[in-house]
Amino acid sequence: MSAPDPAKLSLNTATIREKWGLAQAIEGCARHGIRGIAPWRDQLAAMGVKEAVRAIKANGLTVTGLCRGGFFTAKHWKDDNRRAIEEAHELGARCLVLVVGGLIPGSKDLLGSRELVKEGIAAILPEARKAGVPLAIEPLHPMQAAERACINTLEQALDICDQLGNGIGVAVDVYHVWWDPKLAQQIARAGKDRVLAYHICDWLVPTRDLLNDRGMMGDGVVDLPKIRGMMERAGYAGSHEVEIFSKLDWWQRDPDEVLAICKDRHGKVT
Ligand code: ZN
Repeated sequence: MSAPDPAKLSLNTATIREKWGLAQAIEGCARHGIRGIAPWRDQLAAMGVKEAVRAIKANGLTVTGLCRGGFFTAKHWKDDNRRAIEEAHELGARCLVLVVGGLIPGSKDLLGSRELVKEGIAAILPEARKAGVPLAIEPLHPMQAAERACINTLEQALDICDQLGNGIGVAVDVYHVWWDPKLAQQIARAGKDRVLAYHICDWLVPTRDLLNDRGMMGDGVVDLPKIRGMMERAGYAGSHEVEIFSKLDWWQRDPDEVLAICKDRHGKVT
């Protein structure tokens, strides 16, 4: 594998969210020569969409995704997803990432929850298409099936894409899919039209917190060059978005240090 193109590096702002708001993250990306950014909607609301659009444009950044829509098994999902589509449109985001939601509250009905998710996505898809915002289903590791996403493999996500047609694809996050025996096969199946985002970090051993103990690339057990190879063979030419939830380590550090290390590791170990 040749080294990845440094211009493909993108910062998912979850990586520095404890210490920086969106305005600081945009300035930080510009300062470190990181060309892409993927904001979260709470940070976007705090900054204001108009001001965020202005600052992102002024710094020439690509919005590699907006996090997030989804949670189709919760209440008020429809209005929230409509707003998310509008915001992604305003930002010119390459996709709106969908964390689809876990079990219907109070139920044990996993299959029913998945069906509800599919219906929810189908309901917002026409608006997303009209807005020119591709929807990216992000399958989450099965440990999060109950609380955050009952779509847990690329295969499940792509089955939904096949049923719903254009304007929808997947976000491949190595943290969630690295273990999947069908990973190579399903990335190839997705192809360049359905792979909308690529999120990178690492899986630490031991993992101390299932949600917020992701590792920096190179510190864990994920074969990142191998997965990038699968992505490239499928025709994916988009960004490599660093997304690290790390209460115990990276969130505590100076974000300028975090960004410098992201750049260095991106070039060396991904
Ligand atoms: Zn992700």
